[in-house]
Parts: sequence; C-alpha cells; structure tokens
Amino acid sequence: MNNPALPPLREVIAKHGLSASKALGQNFLFDEQLLDRIAAIPGSLKDQNVYEVGPGPGGLTRALLRAGAKVTAVERDRRCLPALEELSTAFPGQLRVIEGDAMKVDPAAEIGDPFHIASNLPYNVGTALAVGWLGGENWPPEWKSLTLMFQREVADRIVARPGTDAYGRLAILAQWRCEARIAMPVHRSAFTPPPKVMSAVVHLVPKEQPVGVRMAMLETLTAAAFGQRRKMLRQSLKPVPKALDALELVGIAADRRPETVTIEEWIELARKIDTLR
Ligand code: SAM
Repeated sequence: MNNPALPPLREVIAKHGLSASKALGQNFLFDEQLLDRIAAIPGSLKDQNVYEVGPGPGGLTRALLRAGAKVTAVERDRRCLPALEELSTAFPGQLRVIEGDAMKVDPAAEIGDPFHIASNLPYNVGTALAVGWLGGENWPPEWKSLTLMFQREVADRIVARPGTDAYGRLAILAQWRCEARIAMPVHRSAFTPPPKVMSAVVHLVPKEQPVGVRMAMLETLTAAAFGQRRKMLRQSLKPVPKALDALELVGIAADRRPETVTIEEWIELARKIDTLR
C-alpha cells in the first residue's frame, strides 16, 4: 500500500488558510483512523475507481488513496485546490481533481469505468446528489456502491423500515433497488467545526435484480401518500387515477396509512396501476 508521510490535516488547513465556510457546508474530518475506517466501508479499494464529492483539504481523499483507490474528486472551493495538488503529488497517478459544482458533474462521463462513490457530503446538496444517484433510470447503475456521510436524521430516513416516523419517500427510493445500512454513526465532535447535529455514514449497494416498476408511477404514488402522511390511503391516493381500484385488487386495505405500507407493497401497487391504464 502506498503510504507516503503526509502533514497532519490541521497543518494543511493552517498552511492554506482553509477557514471553514458554512455556505459550502464545510465540516472537516481530521481523525485519520476514523477516515481509514470510512474508506474501508466499501471493501477493498485497491485499483478501484472512486468518485468523491467535496474533498476539501483531502482528509477522506488521503484515506481512499492510502487504500489504493484511483480517485476522481469534485471540489467547489478553489481554496482547497493547492492542498489537493499536494496529495496528487504524494500519490502519483491516483488523484484527479475537478474544480466545480458536483450538481453539474456526471461522474460516469468523467470516469468511464465502474466506480464507487464515497463522500463526506456537504449538507446543502447532499440529499439532492443522493436522490440523483439513487433515482437514475439505468439499473444496475454505473456506480458499485455509495458510502455517504449524512446528518443522522437523513441517514435514518434512508434506512428507515415501515412503521417508523422516518419511513417515507427517501427510504422507498433508496431501498427499492439497494441494500441500505448505517455503517457507522459519527459523533458531531469528530468534525471541525462541529455541526449542531450527529452524523452517520450510510452504505448502499445496488440489488442485482430489483423488482421492475415504472419509477414515475412509484414517485407519483409515494408523493401523494406521504404528502399527507396522516391521512388514510383512500383519501390521499384519490387524486391518482386507478389507485383506489388497484389498492383493492392487490389487497391493501384503504384505511391504512402510508407508513405501514411496505416497499414491496408500494411496488406491487404501482405495477398494478400501470396494468389498469
Ligand atoms: N471531505 C472533507 C472532509 O471529510 O473533511 C470535506 C467535507 S465537507 C462536509 C464538504 C465539502 O464539499 C467541502 O469541501 C465543500 O467545499 C464541498 N462542496 C460544497 N458544495 C459543493 C458542490 N456543490 N460541489 C462540490 N463540492 C462542494
């Protein structure tokens, strides 16, 4: 494993004057053991392509590089580029940095080959990015796994089971086609500056053969139902043509509330509606 001596991350921050910007969602991780544990979550990364959003001063990036990954990283904050350039020199041929907004970057086009995604996501665009990766038309997707740090509340919504307050559209989108788990809770004190809330790393792996369903229908249904999550399905699904007929045909009681409906049931319902149209 390539493991050149690198200056401590706090020194990197001081040297390059990287005061954390709230607007850019900058909460940095400096504990290299913690970072190595995060980089180990996807399994061996030796010679694997990894896409990282928001490398910042490069804490997670260096852990990924130490694990042998070939990293393509997108960073919006130009101030971080010199620090990342130093990392690139320390790990020759392993790091490519793209300066820009991850919301506008297509990692599949940038990398070409299959890749893992690993990121301590900026909270302001984290959920939108994850929804984009999870909601793609192509399945299996170009990415092999997602290892993503979120605020704990968002992480809980991604892995939520039916019957819980956290269960909703995000859980259904994530778990319909992926195995999703919380890989590691992370205390707020691990970050500089510490955010107000706790965090967690979520690990998602695409299922090989998820049940096919038209995503637009699944979204229409879950948006209608969870948009009024206290209402019974007979009320909230009324605006969706054929939904009430389909409820009866698949045997889902119309007086249930959306958080009691399993992901398999949502899929069955969406498929049934499509056969009635
Ligand atoms: N990876 C570093 C770490 O773990 O210490 C920094 C993580 S920090 C939570 C989020 C990073 O994302 C910051 O470096 C920030 O500048 C960057 N960022 C914020 N918005 C971005 C965007 N739209 N595109 C790319 N990077 C962004």
